[in-house]
Amino acid sequence: MKGEKQHVVIIGAGFAGLFATKAFFGKNVRVTLIDKNNYHTFNPLLYQVGAALIEPDQIAYPVRSFIRKKNNIDFLMADILSFKFKKNTVVTSRGEIPYDYLIIGCGSVSAFFGVKGADKYSLTLKNLDDALMLRNHVLLNFEKASWCDNEEERKRCLNFVIIGGGPTGVEFAGALAEFVQGPLRKDFPGIDYRDVQITLVDVAKQLLGMYSQESAQYVKKKLESMNVKVLLNTSVSQVKKGEIILNNGLVIKTNTVLWSAGVRGCSIKTDIKLKTSRDMRIEVDSTLRPAGLDNVFICGDMAFLLQDDKPLPMIAPVATQEGIHSAKNILRMIDGKEPIPFRYKDKGSMVTIGRNSAVTRVGHMEWTGFIAWVLWLFIHILYLIGFRNKILVMMSWFRDYLFFERSGKMIIPKKEE
Ligand SMILES: Cc1cc2nc3c(=O)[nH]c(=O)nc-3n(C[C@H](O)[C@H](O)[C@H](O)COP(=O)(O)OP(=O)(O)OC[C@H]3O[C@@H](n4cnc5c(N)ncnc54)[C@H](O)[C@@H]3O)c2cc1C
Repeated sequence: MKGEKQHVVIIGAGFAGLFATKAFFGKNVRVTLIDKNNYHTFNPLLYQVGAALIEPDQIAYPVRSFIRKKNNIDFLMADILSFKFKKNTVVTSRGEIPYDYLIIGCGSVSAFFGVKGADKYSLTLKNLDDALMLRNHVLLNFEKASWCDNEEERKRCLNFVIIGGGPTGVEFAGALAEFVQGPLRKDFPGIDYRDVQITLVDVAKQLLGMYSQESAQYVKKKLESMNVKVLLNTSVSQVKKGEIILNNGLVIKTNTVLWSAGVRGCSIKTDIKLKTSRDMRIEVDSTLRPAGLDNVFICGDMAFLLQDDKPLPMIAPVATQEGIHSAKNILRMIDGKEPIPFRYKDKGSMVTIGRNSAVTRVGHMEWTGFIAWVLWLFIHILYLIGFRNKILVMMSWFRDYLFFERSGKMIIPKKEE
């Protein structure tokens, strides 16, 4: 209707959705942001929740605080059930929401590549619930091991297998090793620490495929010096309750398999079939729209876009930039202008292994060691949302660094396994 504000619906308060929302602050549009949770999660630090280094609320930020006093923005906490593109509506658990423009950024889910038992018997690390479950699981296994007379069962409790030598696998392996050798060693003096085994498995011939061989070698050596066993060129044949079978025939008895071997685009139900890539991401054109849908933008981990013949990676800066770009394109279209193509600006990447140790890449340059680690700390604090979160995370890091002590060692909520 003439004079009425256009309604933009944004799905997902992740990196893509939140930064798209921010780009509409104070603009002459009505925005409804929808998420199944009422908070944004800073995924890059999820592994630290899993390793009890920080508390879950330190890396989450309430959506309603983010949009406070922004009169043109509203929030709906609801699950997305399906998209009716022909009718321009989104079907949610709280009813059907009409839109003029739509931005979808539902993120990704773990990919198990058809490995038998992997989805049933592995833990994943994709959201705060997963991270808490992982933390509780590690602590519960130490509690069990400390009172276990059966040697095989005790070893099962103390064997931790991490599948996937990408950033999440490497960072969690390092953080878990430090957790075991520091706080847990002090808390569970009765455990024979020669029984504790952390194994990192990857099918590739090097860890962190996006880095040079030299950096990957540095990471491997560092992890090995922290008592992490690294198995490369190794894939998983099957995960069962209490054990994992590798393709070289090795069977590891373990209660804990963390699956961080891959992700795929989040599946959505739609009335028009959208073209997807092999990893289930929705193919978009250079303006971030799927073919045939002029008022729909797909961003972040869900979007598949080639840049210089290579797919853009599923990382936070891509999601953030795509979210902002989609919002700008919608504002252009409302002004009667054509949407413009998106181009990702790669500012670099970084992975930490543990205290004083990280790898950082900017362009073709890579650094390892202390300087890379300081950069890692600085960048993560800079991008973490919320002043309180920044202060609390820094305090947790400081405490861990000086006293080898972690704050998140409670098994809450208590859940028998
Ligand atoms: C453990 C881990 C570590 C990572 N580390 C890094 C890192 O160090 N650096 C980096 O750049 N990237 C990292 N990433 C990747 C990065 O987090 C993602 O690329 C980024 O979050 C993608 O943003 P997004 O907006 O597409 O999705 P997300 O940030 O995942 O947000 C998706 C949102 O959609 C909501 N949602 C999903 N389904 C529904 C539904 N059906 N109904 C309603 N709401 C829904 C979710 O609740 C969520 O809020 C990491 C990811 C993980 C899991």
